[in-house]
Order: sequence, then C-alpha cells, then structure tokens
Amino acid sequence: MGRTALKIGADTFQCFVRNPRGARAKAADPADLEGLRRLLAENAFGPIVAHAPYIMNPCSKDQGIRELAERMMGEDLALLEHLPGNYYNFHPGSHVGQGLEEGCRLIAGMLNRVLRPEQQTIVLLETMAGKGSEIGGRFEELRMILDQVERPEKVGVCMDTCHMSDGGYDVVGDWDGVLTEFDKAVGLSRLYAVHINDSMNPPGSRKDRHARIGEGTLGTEAIVRVITHPALRGLPFLLETPTDDAGHGEEIALLRSLAARRQG
Ligand code: FE
Ligand code: FE
Ligand code: ZN
Repeated sequence: MGRTALKIGADTFQCFVRNPRGARAKAADPADLEGLRRLLAENAFGPIVAHAPYIMNPCSKDQGIRELAERMMGEDLALLEHLPGNYYNFHPGSHVGQGLEEGCRLIAGMLNRVLRPEQQTIVLLETMAGKGSEIGGRFEELRMILDQVERPEKVGVCMDTCHMSDGGYDVVGDWDGVLTEFDKAVGLSRLYAVHINDSMNPPGSRKDRHARIGEGTLGTEAIVRVITHPALRGLPFLLETPTDDAGHGEEIALLRSLAARRQG
C-alpha cells in the first residue's frame, strides 16, 4: 500500500484494515506494520486514513449488528496502535427508522465504550450523502454525536465532497459558505481529512455515486478550490474515485499542478 502510494506520487493514502464488505480481519502482522511505519516516516507522509468496513452499522436496530460494529472497531483500533498518529474513518450508520436522536445516541454509546484514553488514533465520522436513514448528511447530525462523546479529543470529522454535494451542500458554487456552515455546526478544528471525489449525480440527489475528477457534477475547478482553501491547509486529501492506481496517479499529478498554479 505504501509503495503503491509512493509510486503514484501520493504522500498519504486510505486503506482498509479488513475486508471492506465483510467482518473478517486478516491477522495483523506487526512486522508488516512496522515496515509501513518506517516507509511513511522516511518519505514524509502525512497521516494516513484507515476506513472501517462498509457493513459497520453502530446504530442498527439489530443488537447483533451493533455488537459486531463495536467488535470490529475495537479490533481495528487495537491493530492501528502499531501505526500511531493516524486516522480511522467510519460511516456513522443508518438508524433504520429508530430516529435521528436514537441513532446518534447509539453511535456515541459505541464510541464511549471503544475509545481508550491512551489510544494514538483519531476516529473520524464521515460526512454522508444522507440516503435512506443514513446519519451524517447534515453537519448538525455529526454535532449531535460529538456532543455525547466522552473523549472528544479522540474524535473528529472527515469530509467527502461527493457526499456533501449529494447531500445538498453547495460545494461548487459556495465552498466558503459550506466551510462557514461546517465551522458553526462542528468546528473546523474537528476536521482531520477530506475525501475528494467528483459526483455522478446533481447536488441534493442524496445518491452517493463517486465520479473521477472532472467527470462529474462538481468539476475539476471546484475540487481545486477545495484542496487549495487556506482553512484546509495541511490536511490529507484522499481520492476515492472509480479508477485504478495509474488513474489515481494521473489525478494526483493534475490536481498538484492546478493547485500549484492557483497558489502561485
Ligand atoms: Fe466512506
Ligand atoms: Fe468517502
Ligand atoms: Zn461515497
């Protein structure tokens, strides 16, 4: 993973620490992680992001699914202690008819049982498109979770440009305004990472289908405004666009050159 990132000109990346669509974790090999830790340090990588499996739903109606979510997150965070100083991002979940408040209470409850004071990883709530009963489509929903978290210093937010646009935020027309709203509801100091994706669907569609940079409804210019905004300086920007390593390499090169030109 680290070598591929190096090869395509990245200085951060996102990865899964287990099968993204299943519960099974591949046994952690501390030697592998130690090697990765060295490679990241030697090549001046920024923090990297581990993404929780998509099946994780800490606010499910089903107690078994909630317990599985808690177990997976606990195991993943234990594993990440071999790579201290990085981030673990998860989708807050879908409340499936239980209501927003109950959903947020369940999510915060899991975090309060799983987070450890000595833990070196910051756990990130991802901004979502708000499809179905998905929590996190509005910044205020993330605030509702954060307000109930007992270790706020261990929890932050990861933005996703496709999700925010699909969720109805004007990423293309008023990025400043979106950041102002985020700052009011959540606080920019709680923002640790940004997924930069174009979107296959129009703003407000609540769909969540990522497009390659420049091939969707956001467009390359809007993405460049996102990554060059002074309030976001130094954050890791992660591509989750539907392409392969070579395609991601091209997107990185394009965005780096446009960002450099814009910042003059
Ligand atoms: Fe995600
Ligand atoms: Fe994302
Ligand atoms: Zn998505």
